[in-house]
Amino acid sequence: MSHWSIDEAEELYGVKRWSAGYFSIGENGNIQVNADHRRPDVKIDLKEVIDEMVAEGIQFPAVIRFHDVLRSQVEILNETFRNTIQQANFQGQYVGVYPVKVNQMREVVEEIVDAGEPYNYGLEAGSKPELMAVMAYNENPEALTVLNGYKDEDYLTLALLGRRLGRKIIVVVEKFSELEMLVALSQKLNIEPMIGLRSKMMVKSQGKWASSSGERAKFGLSIAEILNAIEYLKKHDMLHCAKLLHYHIGSQISDIRKIKEAVTEGARLYAKLVQMGVPMEYLDIGGGLGIDYDGTSSTTDSSRNYSTDEYIADVVYGVKQICDLEEVPHPNLVSESGRAITAYHSMVVTNVVGEIKATGTQFDISPSDGEHVLVSNMRELVGERTLHPQERYNDAASFKESAFEAFKLGVLDLPEMAKIDVMYWQILTEIHQSLDHDNFVIQELEDLDNTLASQYLGNFSVFQSAADTWAIGQLLPIVPISRLNEKPTVRASIADITCDSDGKISKFIEGTQVSENIPLHKLKKDEPYHIGMFLTGAYQDVMGDMHNLFGRLTEVHIFAHDEADGDFYIEEIVPGNSAARVLETMQYNTDYMAKVVKKAVDKQIRKGNIAPREGVRWTDFYEKCLEGSTYLRTEK
Ligand SMILES: *Cc1c(COP(=O)(O)O)cnc(C)c1O
Repeated sequence: MSHWSIDEAEELYGVKRWSAGYFSIGENGNIQVNADHRRPDVKIDLKEVIDEMVAEGIQFPAVIRFHDVLRSQVEILNETFRNTIQQANFQGQYVGVYPVKVNQMREVVEEIVDAGEPYNYGLEAGSKPELMAVMAYNENPEALTVLNGYKDEDYLTLALLGRRLGRKIIVVVEKFSELEMLVALSQKLNIEPMIGLRSKMMVKSQGKWASSSGERAKFGLSIAEILNAIEYLKKHDMLHCAKLLHYHIGSQISDIRKIKEAVTEGARLYAKLVQMGVPMEYLDIGGGLGIDYDGTSSTTDSSRNYSTDEYIADVVYGVKQICDLEEVPHPNLVSESGRAITAYHSMVVTNVVGEIKATGTQFDISPSDGEHVLVSNMRELVGERTLHPQERYNDAASFKESAFEAFKLGVLDLPEMAKIDVMYWQILTEIHQSLDHDNFVIQELEDLDNTLASQYLGNFSVFQSAADTWAIGQLLPIVPISRLNEKPTVRASIADITCDSDGKISKFIEGTQVSENIPLHKLKKDEPYHIGMFLTGAYQDVMGDMHNLFGRLTEVHIFAHDEADGDFYIEEIVPGNSAARVLETMQYNTDYMAKVVKKAVDKQIRKGNIAPREGVRWTDFYEKCLEGSTYLRTEK
């Protein structure tokens, strides 16, 4: 076997470049997890986690959550804000909120609230159900609850209930009519609201979420509307309720210059409002803190050209400078980072259940009597190494094309067609192997890498577990969990098990490039091959749909613990959706279905076509499948 080291694996999969220190490749060729930023010596071997999951009878695909990673991200964000504020001699405080839409899982929200408690870190909601969850899970009277999204009377009344309970709930006005409704309700109920005003912002972010700001944005008030809102509040003697100025110019902002521009615009607006006598106390800079999914530290849509430290410094110093120039007190700073808090903490592990090859089908290609000349011509190209590769390729391609025409006209029979096909792929493979890969010159031959790549069939659904890779071309790092000390020799992309040709992943990190396929390891007969799709904790976890009725995955919740075996323990297992459960969400009555199948079996028993005992086994099997996993069962 050719030489291969874990350094080369690192070079190829770029784990250190995208993992922010949470993942690395261990000496033994397994992925290691450094879940707690405060305890760098506690390292979890991901292969050991998977072995324990297998021992527990957990089926794949599964989501693995590292709670310590969540906690670490909450601590890093809050502490960096605190330290920067202190260094800058900034007068306000940082009181951030976590926007639950990014990952609403109860366990995730609970962990974030718990880790954020020392910092009075709060929550943000964007809809009525989110608000109801947030009211129950953010009980800290010092932490903020920020309410965005469009609102009706019930939403606003719930917010006022929160005020009654002594919470710092801020209703962010997204459109003018909400303000009228809120003022009327609060006067009727005699409860004083805390009001935020969302600015539409003139700065436009770039990338996938550019339309979150600018004049045509869906949310927020123009400058004229903000001034009208101030007048309206004055008129109703409620100006003192206007506490917060909010903006959010989009998610995954990849260019730091956009962040600086937004801070300048937002701080200027804040200062002018204070100068007009609006008693604002908070400036809320929204979300947008990006994640370097592809590890390139660049302005591609899947990356960012700045660090968290730089982001926070730009916010704190940027706001300070403008407030000092405008001679207004520094505000308390609120940010609504969601992606940055949750992306790293969860991953999807799937097992590869098969390989779809372009080449390598076993078929006898030896000459037969009176075979067609196209078949003989193609055979002459097999093993023919004196021709220039391009010429050989051109000939093979043209024979194949002619053969297809001949087949349609009924000239070639099925075995002849099969031989042509098998030989064609064999020739392409030979050409590919003969090429000097560092010196590609011919475009068509360069594509052979992709033409000849395999597809590894992953036991998962892209639509359930990685919606953004399908919807908006989001790149997620994909790396085998083990064997990283072994040379990966098969170029492959990954197809999922949905019956949709779109259900595949064809964007991978390869070194510092993005490729359609990557080197993976040759599958072994009796050894499962687990691959990890990383950084799925933001949005992917909770956006999945029911395409093909695969439903939610089994989840395991991992805690790092230096006294436990392997430095970790599985704290909770949340079973994935059963077939019955997903069918029921589509209005099926699974008891009825089981009854119909049982009746049909009984009928065959009565007719004597099925023996009674066999019949019982069939009915039981159908019922067992209803209770079972929707994904492929790979263990015996
Ligand atoms: C989605 C959203 C966020 C979260 O943005 P991230 O980029 O994930 O940090 C914050 N605030 C508002 C208003 C949002 O709509």
